[in-house]
Amino acid sequence: MLDLVIIGSGPAGMAAGIYARRGGLDTMLIEKVSPGGQAVYAHSIENYPGSYQVPGYELMFSFANHLEKFGLVPEVLEITGTELSGRVKSVHTAKETIEAKAVVIASGASPRRLGMPSEGKLTGRGVSYCASCDGNFFKGKVAAVVGGGDAAAEDALYLAKICSKVYVVHRRDSLRAQDIVQKRLFAMPNVEMVWDSVVEDILGADKVESLLIKDVNGGTVRKLATDSVFVAIGQVPNTGLFAKEVALADTGHIIVDREMRTNVPGVFAAGDVTVKPLRQVVTAVSDGAVASYSAIKYISTEF
Ligand code: NAP
Repeated sequence: MLDLVIIGSGPAGMAAGIYARRGGLDTMLIEKVSPGGQAVYAHSIENYPGSYQVPGYELMFSFANHLEKFGLVPEVLEITGTELSGRVKSVHTAKETIEAKAVVIASGASPRRLGMPSEGKLTGRGVSYCASCDGNFFKGKVAAVVGGGDAAAEDALYLAKICSKVYVVHRRDSLRAQDIVQKRLFAMPNVEMVWDSVVEDILGADKVESLLIKDVNGGTVRKLATDSVFVAIGQVPNTGLFAKEVALADTGHIIVDREMRTNVPGVFAAGDVTVKPLRQVVTAVSDGAVASYSAIKYISTEF
């Protein structure tokens, strides 16, 4: 039996791994795809202290290297189920069942979808959830970004440097993105804000050709010609696997206390998957550190 299983290797999971290994825990870190989580897709991170305008993949690569110094390399495995309420925790994968004294859930979040059938049909054909991954396909062309948060504003800024024109379609008349990013965005000559508007449909036979945009005040619908649409309307926490055992908020995020404890003894959670006021690399790292610190305390008293 292991001491600790950490689920997810974004900034929270990797920080948890470093703290767990330094605390002497026999630890396994499980990752579904590849290390780094969503931060990998950030074109530039400038608010993680010590890293000014560093590509997300670069920062996450340095996290993974740091983790490896303490003998921990994420294992790419698909988790099929968990049993977390007993004293011994079980994490099932297609290959094996892993048993541990404690678990840190750092499974992050996934992009929220607009929800219309055309979105699925045209994903990869002009519909994207990652500007830094797919922006270059639309070099010199028109892009539309949907959303008004940090992700939408940063995606729009990034695309404005590549594309001929960028529309930002937002359902209200102000952004919630950080002030510094808004100012940079509004200064771009090729960015046009489409306020108070929602996407009714994405049109195109085998690639995106236009959006049907509805004005939320007047209800008028118009066509907006674009070659691409980058959906940045927030995140949905990856908690489906744990919903039966761990208490969730209405939003689907895991409820934790200041020590990153969930309602289940021996189960901790960290990062974007939890209820929290600020979702950034810096807070994810803090969560991960606290979660492992709490796991170390828990194991030393309970085992
Ligand atoms: P977010 O902050 O939740 O913003 C989502 C945006 O999409 C909001 O403007 C929201 O509109 C809009 N929206 C939500 N559902 C919608 C729908 N169904 N149709 C149309 N619009 C919809 O999400 P995010 O931008 O992905 O950011 C997630 C977290 O990561 C945030 O905490 C953010 O601060 C953080 N983040 C930080 C950085 C950074 O620090 N550099 C970069 C990226 C993300 P309303 O405004 O009307 O609610």
